[in-house]
Amino acid sequence: MTSRNLRIAIIGSGASGLMALIKLREAGLTDTTIFEKAESLGGTWRDNRYPGLTCDVPSLAYRYSFAPNAEWTHVCAPGPEILDYLKTVAAEHDLERDIRYSAEVLSADYADGQWHIVTSQGDEGRFDAVLAAAGVLHHPAYPDIEGLDTFAGDCFHTARWPDNFSLEGKRVGVIGTGSTATQITGAIVGEVSKLSLFQRTPQWILPLANDPISEEQRVAYRANPELLEQEFIRLNLEQTSKFAAAIVGENPYSYGVIDRYCRDHLNLVTDPDLKARLTPDYKVGCKRLIMSGNFYHAIQQPNAELVTDAITRIEAGGIRTADANAREGRLHELDVLVLATGFDAHKIMSPMTVAGRGGKRLDATWADAQEAYLAVTIPDFPNWFMIGGPNSPVGNFSWLQTAELQFGYALQLIEKLRDGNIREIAPRAEALRAFNDAVKAKMPDTIWASGCKSWYIDKHGHVASWPWTFEKFKADMETPVLSDYEIA
Ligand code: NAP
Repeated sequence: MTSRNLRIAIIGSGASGLMALIKLREAGLTDTTIFEKAESLGGTWRDNRYPGLTCDVPSLAYRYSFAPNAEWTHVCAPGPEILDYLKTVAAEHDLERDIRYSAEVLSADYADGQWHIVTSQGDEGRFDAVLAAAGVLHHPAYPDIEGLDTFAGDCFHTARWPDNFSLEGKRVGVIGTGSTATQITGAIVGEVSKLSLFQRTPQWILPLANDPISEEQRVAYRANPELLEQEFIRLNLEQTSKFAAAIVGENPYSYGVIDRYCRDHLNLVTDPDLKARLTPDYKVGCKRLIMSGNFYHAIQQPNAELVTDAITRIEAGGIRTADANAREGRLHELDVLVLATGFDAHKIMSPMTVAGRGGKRLDATWADAQEAYLAVTIPDFPNWFMIGGPNSPVGNFSWLQTAELQFGYALQLIEKLRDGNIREIAPRAEALRAFNDAVKAKMPDTIWASGCKSWYIDKHGHVASWPWTFEKFKADMETPVLSDYEIA
């Protein structure tokens, strides 16, 4: 077998792209470049800077396998700490020499075993393989509400939080009640003069107090990496065998426990009317479960108001809602309007144009449904590997762990390309069809498909997450079934 050097492009310098660069180098694949549209690394942890931002996976379970971290200061690490962690890992591995910032991939065209890439900086040439790690939650979704652009105060999406922006003493409106809005509410209620939280749909909230990790504990973790590893194993097991299995319908006992925790948690709300308005009418876990130890406390503060009347329009002075007692509705006067309205999770690979064999366009291929074999590869798009592709386990367990497993799978296929006689590798259409049939058959068992709207569900009603257990995901990522691939 003759071995050849591969030139590889990674799209995105978020947590997944950085990990891919480290591991490709470890595998001896050193001719690799990350193309990053922004001016710095960190992906979602770079883009999100809102007050109260923390990870909702316990920190000791949120780390690369090769970079255990004894320094987390809280059970759920604050966002800036996670960004620092990524920057530290990047510096330790001298990653920036292979990152091209301000280079947004505009197009990727396949021909003869190579991808031709053009970025906002120009023609980048040809690559033997592409690892697309562009993230899932990075296109802010702006609400389509009449008059949004007429608001006279400051208005921004949570993922576009302005630097050094003070909310002190201001009347602040927050639209949305997802994980983001919930964290912001807890963080700012003590600082603003009035907080109006505009809720369209109530959410279930699992109580999770974000206690500090003491310096003493950190010293112990530093001194004894084994202790850190044990904590990781314990937390990871909680997440995978209990939480993740429960939401895909494989652990009814744990589901019952989670359900009860959420319902009991609501009892912290003392006013019956407020409690009724905060009570969802769908199953616990159908929308992504929110983890919070302070939201119910925050929303019951005298300067906080939960607004559940429908928004009719936005005006220069604030938000107008329908009001059963007033024809003209009610104006909620605001100085600042925060759009905690989430992301378009189904715009992955967009807006770049990707054209596979024979010029086949990915946007056209995915027009009716975004489908990828085991979430990683796509027929007719050879040598194109995704981290965070459709049906990745976005709602199940630690993203860093998912990314490493998907990468490990992709690397085994990339290794095949090193053989001088092999130019391309792509899954068979039948393999994708069988995978999708299995996804469709299993999805109704999951709690996501139990009747609610969420960002897991695309415009065609498909739930774009992994409907099986962590153990199955791990096993499927272990070794590619080569008979499911066309290798030429
Ligand atoms: P989200 O869960 O999609 O929530 C968006 C919110 O905005 C929902 O309450 C939605 O209401 C509301 N909304 C959207 N358009 C609206 C409109 N036109 N009028 C009124 N309300 C509107 O978004 P997110 O809170 O940013 O969270 C997204 C995901 O990011 C999370 O599920 C999580 O995976 C991740 N995240 C993670 C962390 C973390 O790790 N700490 C923190 C934040 C976010 P409906 O429910 O009625 O649609």
